Amino acid sequence: MTKTDRILRLLWLFVRRVVNWSCRFSWWTTAGLRDARTRPTGLRLLCLGLAVGVLIGWANSEVIHVLIDRGGMPKPVTPPPPGMAWAHVLTTGYCPCTICCGPNASGHTSTNRDVRSYPFGIAVDPGLMPYRYNLYVPGYGIADVDDTGGAMREDARRGRFHIDLRFTDHQQARRWGVRWMWIAVPAGTGAAALPQPH
Ligand SMILES: [Zn+2]
Repeated sequence: MTKTDRILRLLWLFVRRVVNWSCRFSWWTTAGLRDARTRPTGLRLLCLGLAVGVLIGWANSEVIHVLIDRGGMPKPVTPPPPGMAWAHVLTTGYCPCTICCGPNASGHTSTNRDVRSYPFGIAVDPGLMPYRYNLYVPGYGIADVDDTGGAMREDARRGRFHIDLRFTDHQQARRWGVRWMWIAVPAGTGAAALPQPH
């Protein structure tokens, strides 16, 4: 037996051991542990579990947005205010806490505003909406664009305008949840130039 043969044989034994082990620990087949015919079921269940896991991970990142979108508000029927354009926007909420802003939360926005003086504001991808603007967000109010975040920049790369609304309280921010809505944004900004659904 050559060295390669020996390694291959060891590998094969290992794979068989893993398959047997997965069958043994699958509650589904424990009744038929001594019945060879039911053994592949364990492997099938293992593969099914892995597939479902991958699917849930993917759904969490992509499909959820579409599902939430379906329950969102329709596009406004009137023209936008002068100099503005309707944009379909993903909105979420945050507060200055370490859960929302990470362990290095400083209490200052990326435009160096102290959140104690500016409790309300909007975080965006500055490439889509420069910091000098303010926006009216139905259900939130009128607030300055004065902060940014990784999720907003990541969504901008995917062609989504994502705004994060600043609250003073974590529970309040959580309660806002994830909402798609139509917002009037200044024409000429990157956000206004994104392709919009009909
Ligand atoms: Zn928070």
